[in-house]
Amino acid sequence: MTKKSREILAVLQNSEGHMTAEQVYLACRNAGISVSVATVYRCLSALADEGHVRRFSIAGEPEYFDKTVTSHEHLFCSRCRRVTDARAADVQKLLEETFGITLESYDLSMHVVCTDCKAKEA
Ligand SMILES: [Zn+2]
Ligand SMILES: [Zn+2]
Repeated sequence: MTKKSREILAVLQNSEGHMTAEQVYLACRNAGISVSVATVYRCLSALADEGHVRRFSIAGEPEYFDKTVTSHEHLFCSRCRRVTDARAADVQKLLEETFGITLESYDLSMHVVCTDCKAKEA
């Protein structure tokens, strides 16, 4: 792993856990790490290929990178755009028992209104 990749990985690991390449780039700039957006994207892609981070997509949004590499669901608040993890432990069991399907991995994102935004709107 290159020094830049290590620095970029540390930025993601010190975050809440989900960032786009653009957000990682801005965080690097704030931390005084001099990189270009292209370098950030290249390093994140390499980190994802090597299994250090996980990439996932949310319809209509730029690609996200996740510090948690095991399968889990995402809740995406369509108001404040915050991404949080959710775990529906029974998804695999449901598919296996109902449809006889063996689930290898999955990437599920749900668009929601988070509790903070819901409180603000109430
Ligand atoms: Zn929200
Ligand atoms: Zn996640």
